[in-house]
Amino acid sequence: MIYLCSTIIMEQSAAIDKNKPFFSRKKGDFFLVSGPCSVESHQQIMDTALGISKSKVDLIRGGIWKPRTRPGAFEGIGSMGLPWLKEAGIATGIPVAIEVAKAAHIEECLKIGIDVIWIGARTTVNPFLVQEIADAIQGTGIPVMIKNPVNPDLELWIGAIERIAKAGTQDIAAIHRGFSSYEKLMYRNNPKWEIPVELKRRLPDIPIICDPSHICGNTNWISNVCQTAIDLNFDGLMIESHMNPSCALSDQKQQLTPDQLFSLLQNLIYRRPSIDDKNILNHIEVLRDKIDQFDSDLLDILAKRMEAARSIGNYKKAINTTILQRMRWEEILQSRTEIGSEKKLSENFIFQLFEMIHQEAIHQQSSIMNQKSDSKNPIE
Ligand code: PEP
Ligand code: MN
Repeated sequence: MIYLCSTIIMEQSAAIDKNKPFFSRKKGDFFLVSGPCSVESHQQIMDTALGISKSKVDLIRGGIWKPRTRPGAFEGIGSMGLPWLKEAGIATGIPVAIEVAKAAHIEECLKIGIDVIWIGARTTVNPFLVQEIADAIQGTGIPVMIKNPVNPDLELWIGAIERIAKAGTQDIAAIHRGFSSYEKLMYRNNPKWEIPVELKRRLPDIPIICDPSHICGNTNWISNVCQTAIDLNFDGLMIESHMNPSCALSDQKQQLTPDQLFSLLQNLIYRRPSIDDKNILNHIEVLRDKIDQFDSDLLDILAKRMEAARSIGNYKKAINTTILQRMRWEEILQSRTEIGSEKKLSENFIFQLFEMIHQEAIHQQSSIMNQKSDSKNPIE
């Protein structure tokens, strides 16, 4: 298809209703962001935008300034791509979004009427840059999406959200794109779901959009990660899509074609965020009562276990031996993971659980060991 490329288009590409929250979730559905990793050519963004528009996309994404880990990779088409993305928005009637990393980017976006901006993971880590962006959007009300920082630091993520909120923007969404890790994992970025779940607890009014493309780094697991996000009651998804992924200039392995995006979305199972049926609620209540009782038993047992650890701490102090007894600790880990797996408890879970229990026992024993005057007989 051939498109006419207008030079500078100042009007909004799609009407954003300023009276209603931009990132609000559609009933029984998701806020969907899609589009290529990078805007590469006029034809590429137009074809991709038209292709994904049949998937009820709420926002078209496209990077033109690309932060690359190593020099020499494709660093984005630059300002030349702005009118192309803008035109794709007008052609589809869907708002468009770009990643920004400094005030100069914002200026260009505002000049041409880009509807939404997002802050990338490599920028969220830097409070100077986030503040520069916050100052540049002051008073504009432009909706902003804030990706998690590359490192698993919830406070840094919250800090970036606070800086943007202080600039007077009402429309803020957080994007969960996973966290870098030195170890090679099956994911490009470790999802560490507990972090966005904790963000939701701390900032319940901020919608969270999951970005399975950057979590996975390939297309194999995207639908699983989307489903997990739905199951955890996320508010939206950001999925990279490209007309011809094998020719993409960035993130080639993780982009879906518009048709793949369509069928992926068809196959997801949407879940209700709350339950209002009385019978179901009663049934769940019975099961929750059981869980409450188990939790109470667990806490009693943990308290007893720590009491025993403190008694041992008193002995260790009296005979002046180290808190950490490596062989004993090895044996605990070994036997507990074995018993756990017989009880269908994953090795990883048991390992982490016992690491925490052991840490607390060490903490309690060291406060006994380091008490200044203790005339008590430890054998008592
Ligand atoms: C992107 O969205 O293409 C991108 C660069 O993502 P992130 O900031 O999550 O690495
Ligand atoms: Mn990308």
